[in-house]
Amino acid sequence: MTCDHANGLILTNVSRDDGTSVDIALEHGRIGRISASGSAEATRGAAPGASACRCERLDLSGYVLLPAPAEPHAHLDKALLGARAVNRTEDLDGAIEAIIAAYASMDEADTLARASEAVRQAVAHGTTAIRTHVDCRAGIGSRSVRVLAGLRERLAGLVDLQIVALAGPVAGAEGREHRALLAESLEAGADAVGGIPTLEEDSAASVAELIAVASEYGVGMDLHVDETLDADAQVLRLLADRIIGTGFAHPVAASHCVSLSVQPVERIRETAARVAEAGIGIVALPQTNLYLQGREAGHAAPRGITAVRLLREAGVTVAGGGDNWRDPFNPMGRIDAFETASLLVAAGHQRVAEAYRSVSVDARTVMGLEPVAVETGARAELVAIRGASLSDAIGRGSEERIVISRGRVIARTEVRTELGRDWPR
Ligand SMILES: [Zn+2]
Repeated sequence: MTCDHANGLILTNVSRDDGTSVDIALEHGRIGRISASGSAEATRGAAPGASACRCERLDLSGYVLLPAPAEPHAHLDKALLGARAVNRTEDLDGAIEAIIAAYASMDEADTLARASEAVRQAVAHGTTAIRTHVDCRAGIGSRSVRVLAGLRERLAGLVDLQIVALAGPVAGAEGREHRALLAESLEAGADAVGGIPTLEEDSAASVAELIAVASEYGVGMDLHVDETLDADAQVLRLLADRIIGTGFAHPVAASHCVSLSVQPVERIRETAARVAEAGIGIVALPQTNLYLQGREAGHAAPRGITAVRLLREAGVTVAGGGDNWRDPFNPMGRIDAFETASLLVAAGHQRVAEAYRSVSVDARTVMGLEPVAVETGARAELVAIRGASLSDAIGRGSEERIVISRGRVIARTEVRTELGRDWPR
């Protein structure tokens, strides 16, 4: 007779907020018993007649154990293009121009290599689920979608990868080719419909087309709405009205929503109430918005981060994401949800716990994934990060982390610092 942990993993000396420490048994990919550190319940099988537990143990002294982050908005097809695709004007138009010029060089092998490396860095930082938007436009077709669908297969059982087909323009006669590419991408394995209605001449027609394609294929939508500081932009409101009006039955997310940051409070509240009623999840993307938005201001530049607090007050789920990682849309980015959380605190004025919730629990909700928590019964998607508290962990952003997906360690980073001989002892 063996213990009843099914050869699971026991996390020992896990500190709790109240200063106590516990042992946590992970079994069958889920969190099992949580008991006081060193107590018999977690460290030995509790089944009648069970013998000593031989499960592997992981001592988490000095770490903070958290629900693993999820990335609700990445662009893995563009990630790590770096100096190969230079944004000469350092604004959104310059980024789009640079990426279109880079399409020809983004062949299967290149895209697979960059996307795989970005996933590896995200996972090493604790992220166990990623939603990526993938360009499927004239000049690149559905090539990148097919590459990402292949990568999703290779990562099955380790990382949840979701693919959003990003096409546009889709409205009117000029949108015919992109509507066909959207359909082709969904046939090739994309999970949801994406689009950028704000950049189209007729945003209402664009939203209508995107809803029609998503309805036809029975999938959700995640739209780039909007990357503009034009206070009169109304696409989010339009989208919410259309979702309610059509009774669209699948999950909907709206990413960026930058214009909310410069609108009058009353208008934001009205839109937020409609967004809550429509059940749309919002994805705030602080780093790319801080980089691309407000350059024309010269000084006292607006931050361009959506109205997180007012959206939350209206009952909207607000996730936080990384967006672009070292590509023409954002030359920075450590591919680290803890960096996003840090920006939501410093630039987005969120409380530390809210910021972490945005990049973990709320991100999973927007992605339609099972919730995670450090609680018995929850799926064992966890990250242990060196630190004394959540605030310390996010502030310090240590690379020293242990990442657990489905109850198994999938990545571990160790850091060794050595002080020179002259350092006072
Ligand atoms: Zn994006």
